[in-house]
Amino acid sequence: MIKAKGYAAKSETSPLEPFAFERRMPGSQDVQIEILYCGICHSDLHMARNEWQVTVYPVVPGHEIVGKVVKVGDQVKKFKEGDIVAVGCLVDSCRHCHGCQDGLEQYCETGFTLTYNSPEKETGGMTYGGYSDSIVVSQDFVLKVPGSLDIKAVAPLLCAGITTYSPLRHWKVKKGDKVGVVGLGGLGHMAVKIAHALGATVTMITTSPDKEKDARRLGASDVLISTNKDMMDKFANHFDLIINTIPRTHDINPYLELLKRDATMVIVGAVEMLQSGLDTRQLIFKRKSVAGSVIGGIRETQEMLDFCAEHNVLPDVEMIPIQKINEAYERMLKNDVKYRFVIDMASLK
Ligand code: NAP
Ligand code: ZN
Ligand code: ZN
Repeated sequence: MIKAKGYAAKSETSPLEPFAFERRMPGSQDVQIEILYCGICHSDLHMARNEWQVTVYPVVPGHEIVGKVVKVGDQVKKFKEGDIVAVGCLVDSCRHCHGCQDGLEQYCETGFTLTYNSPEKETGGMTYGGYSDSIVVSQDFVLKVPGSLDIKAVAPLLCAGITTYSPLRHWKVKKGDKVGVVGLGGLGHMAVKIAHALGATVTMITTSPDKEKDARRLGASDVLISTNKDMMDKFANHFDLIINTIPRTHDINPYLELLKRDATMVIVGAVEMLQSGLDTRQLIFKRKSVAGSVIGGIRETQEMLDFCAEHNVLPDVEMIPIQKINEAYERMLKNDVKYRFVIDMASLK
């Protein structure tokens, strides 16, 4: 086994703290990676605090991983020692179901293996994520980082990037479409950048008036303050697509009013029951849809990385040492992220 160091939460009420554990030795199909950077997703916080009631402790979060290959198994053809690579939210899936055969591992019908907090097939233990110094992953779930991208900023593409790229592509956003993005955090800022790069006219829909200037710099042409009813009324029946990244339960009905006839709101943020209830009159009388979407498959994640390299789309990151992880979580809860924290793993040494 390989000795690894990381940060783990040991219960839903304890802060993350240093944690020593072991990784499996790389098998013939595996890539061993020295982790250089790892982004902090709001899902990490949900998971560390057991907000989805599925966490097994200790949990080492982190699924926006960028690192350097240090060893490869004898069957590995795609990667070699020294390559800069990335790992996102998935490290395995059944590989046989319709989802997997279509390259949509995120919709694996028998269940995928998440980068952390999933049973690991090879060892029978739980997977541990990227808040650590190393990881061992099957080559089929490792991504190539295009050489032109600044690797310090790449990590958030692996979750925030693909989670917003995938629905923007699935709903075929094109030049001139009116796209609304709800919530200017990690996911939201990537949604703005990617939709803008696809040629859409983007409106940032936010609860934070002080983020207006940034939203425009990121690519939004308009900024809509969601707590301002007059402004919301002005944007009624306006959008072709809305990407909703709000991280918890909320009343979606005021946002549904913003959709045009036949348009769709894609929920990617709130992975839970919406307590408000759904006003179906919104759907029935304007043929609107509410949909959901989860991350993206491996093929699409590589496509997204290449797209970002081609269009020079990179996250805005605030680099932190791992010792500041608990502080970063508190700031995330205050909507104070500009716009993704990334852990510099050199701080773990
Ligand atoms: P984040 O960085 O904390 O950003 C969330 C933003 O939502 C905040 O900055 C804030 O933006 C807005 N917001 C927060 N609370 C709100 C409320 N009560 N009402 C209205 N707006 C609110 O979070 P993130 O990392 O982008 O993640 C967002 C959510 O997506 C999390 O729940 C995460 O678990 C989920 N997620 C889902 C997937 C998937 O595959 N579907 C993948 C990754 C993450 P403003 O200040 O602009 O209002
Ligand atoms: Zn994530
Ligand atoms: Zn499958």
